[in-house]
Order: sequence, then structure tokens, then C-alpha cells
Amino acid sequence: SRIPIVGGNWKCNPAKLAEANALLEAWKAKPFDKEKVEVVIAPTALHLGSVKKTLEGLGMQAAAQNVGKNDMGAFTGEWTATHLTDMEVAWTLIGHSERRSKYGETDDETAVKVEKCQAAGLKVIFCIGEQLEEREAGKTDEVNKRQLAAVLAKITNWDLIVLAYEPVWAIGTGKVATPDQAEETQAAIRAYIKEAVSEEVANKVRIQYGGSVTPENCAELIGKPNIDGFLVGGASLKPSFMDIVTTVG
Ligand code: 13P
Repeated sequence: SRIPIVGGNWKCNPAKLAEANALLEAWKAKPFDKEKVEVVIAPTALHLGSVKKTLEGLGMQAAAQNVGKNDMGAFTGEWTATHLTDMEVAWTLIGHSERRSKYGETDDETAVKVEKCQAAGLKVIFCIGEQLEEREAGKTDEVNKRQLAAVLAKITNWDLIVLAYEPVWAIGTGKVATPDQAEETQAAIRAYIKEAVSEEVANKVRIQYGGSVTPENCAELIGKPNIDGFLVGGASLKPSFMDIVTTVG
């Protein structure tokens, strides 16, 4: 009964607004059933305002890739959850592994950001996932629990939260988790939510898989009961992203 949700994380791409618009034009040729799958696209912050209307015309929603942890004020280079809701951007990613590993974002900072989003009524795709050494050391579930535990106390409205499990070793590497690996880990994430929050929340929260998802490998992944959609990087910059969307929905 969970409606699947597919995210496109464009990261720091494409170089030109015209390329973003051309991509969206290509997507127009492949309509999808909005009742069956929710689609959320995260362009660069600079392109967000411009492409939002086009995304909405396609029946998609816009997301930021990050949000500040402070309120309004002297925080050069930042924006807040309040700015996003005022701009009618309904979503943001928080805790993407690139923010964690390349910009030093800590569990505590993700918690403050989630808290700000809850207060502003902003929807969050909260990203978690282990690094290769952590998987090899058998610490996958422990890492996911730690990253989740940091934010649970801040969440009062679970309708505003989607989880994205993105094993770091699968991101941008072409090395997708096997459907069984992803399912096993996501089942453990859901079991933890049941134990730490409630059965009701565990049953309703959607968990995306992210990491080298393509039109070719998505069908088998989406067949797994604990995979409720995808967070797609590289493959979301192509016209064939719509094949992922229509496979899911
Ligand atoms: P890729 O799909 O390029 O592996 O990226 C996944 C990702 O990081 C989405 O947030």
C-alpha cells in the first residue's frame, strides 16, 4: 500500500540550464501514471527555481539537494527550510553520502536539519548507507541504525519523511547492490524503525534504494517488498530515466 517514490538527484549537473530544459523536454514524450508513482527531482539549487514549473507540468515535484542547519541571518552561502517552502519547493535531500564524506556533515548536523524541516513542513528524503569497509566489516546495519538514531527524536511527522538507503560503494560506481543485498538491508532498516518508533510508522515509511540504479537493473530491485522506489543519480540525467519511472509505476 506504500506508493513508490522515485527521486532523481542531479548533483552538480548539468552544466547548462539549456541542457536541463532539453532533458525535461525529452521526458515529456514518456508520460507516467501519477497515481502509481511519485517523482521528485533535485536539480542544482541555482536551477531549481527555473525548472520547478516545468517539472510540475510533467507531474513531478522539485527538491533541493541540501538545506542549511541555521535560521535566517548571517550565514553566507546557505539557505533554509523556510526559504524552500516559501519558494514552494516541497522537498529536500538531507544526509547524502557526498555531503557526509566530502563536506564533513555529521549525524548531529543531519538531525538539526531534519528538525528545521519538520518545523517548516518541508518533506525530506533522508539518506543513509554504509561505506565499503563498513560492509566488509559486517557493520552495515549498525551504521544505518546509527545514522537513523541520530534523527529519530526530531521526527514528529513521519508523513514528511522518506528514507533512502544508498550504500556508498554503489554510488556512481556501476556496482549496484544485488536485489537480495538491498532487500536484506532495507528489511533491517524497517525492523529497526518498528523497534525504535512503531509498527505503524515502519509499515508506512517508504525506503528508496540508491546506487547505480539503471533502467536495466531496476525491475528486479523494485520486485523486493522493502524497496519502495529509488534515488537515482547518473541515470536521472538521461531521457531513459523515464523507463525507471514507468517500471516502478
Ligand atoms: P548513482 O545513481 O549515480 O550511483 O548515484 C546515486 C546517488 O547518489 C543518488 O543520490
